[in-house]
Amino acid sequence: MTAQLIDGKAISATIREEIKTEAAEMKAKYNRVPGLATVLVGGRKDSQAYVNMKKKACAQVGITSFAHDLPGDISQEELLKVVKEINENPDVHGILVQLPLPDHIDEEEILGAIDLEKDVDGFHPLNIGRLSMKRRDPLFVPCTPRGCIELLDRTGVEIEGKEAVVLGRSNIVGLPVAMLLLHRNATLTICHSRTKDLPKVVKRADILIAAVGRPEMVKADWVKPGAVVIDVGTNAVDDPTRKRGYRLVGDVAFDEVKEVAGAISPSPGGVGPMTIAMLLRNTMDSAKRDAGME
Ligand code: NDP
Repeated sequence: MTAQLIDGKAISATIREEIKTEAAEMKAKYNRVPGLATVLVGGRKDSQAYVNMKKKACAQVGITSFAHDLPGDISQEELLKVVKEINENPDVHGILVQLPLPDHIDEEEILGAIDLEKDVDGFHPLNIGRLSMKRRDPLFVPCTPRGCIELLDRTGVEIEGKEAVVLGRSNIVGLPVAMLLLHRNATLTICHSRTKDLPKVVKRADILIAAVGRPEMVKADWVKPGAVVIDVGTNAVDDPTRKRGYRLVGDVAFDEVKEVAGAISPSPGGVGPMTIAMLLRNTMDSAKRDAGME
């Protein structure tokens, strides 16, 4: 069997078009423009690249971005002051603090200082707390986990009553995506580095979310025939045949697992583009809320 491809690029392009239409409507009806502030501390090349991608994506859909590029030696107090100033800016509906922050910065305090109404990354402790409780809707759901669920929904995958296995329990992916699956009435198993007989546990899954950061770890014989597999992993592996000397692969051995699974998202080209689309979605939703549109 060859699995249905869950094409994150195509699905995210559709979502961006939807957001572009909503932003144009908002401008026409309310003369308002959604705004996203980006906070980048220091000169990490990967962080700069991520922030640039986000700014470009904003421009494409009609969201204004407000860049705050700050020196790597900024103090905790100065950074807090910047966040508080952005909180006060009525043109900003979402604040994205690019992680990781330098070691001397208390990340938890910075994330906790973001106005709850503008926490489009969904990492404010209150939003995470609400996500972890029954019938307490968070204002924002973290982008990568939300992107995983959106991929399932837009592929027509039924979640309720299914056996879902989440491989990984990080604060940014594994744990929140597990909470979302639970809210959608999946029967949930979370695996991690201490899980015994991982292949056997993974094989229970009707829906498998792989977020471990181990290149091509999930093999075909770990996967239940017909299962839906969402691969969050993005891992660089050496490849001398490539100009840059490496290529990106997921946590799932795509070529063999696609012969067993019912549907599978590739990596790259699956969850990655959805993460940015969900950041735009959260920013748009925030602007609509602010304009009283929902
Ligand atoms: P973390 O390193 O924070 O977490 C990895 C999780 O996997 C941990 O819970 C860890 O267990 C578990 N784990 C690690 N090795 C094993 C193993 N051999 N067997 C079982 N469990 C294991 O990673 P992230 O959650 O931040 O990221 C996971 C992957 O997703 C990475 O490849 C990352 O690049 C990618 N990613 C992609 C994004 C996107 O937009 N596409 C966004 C964010 C991440 P334990 O808790 O016991 O240590």
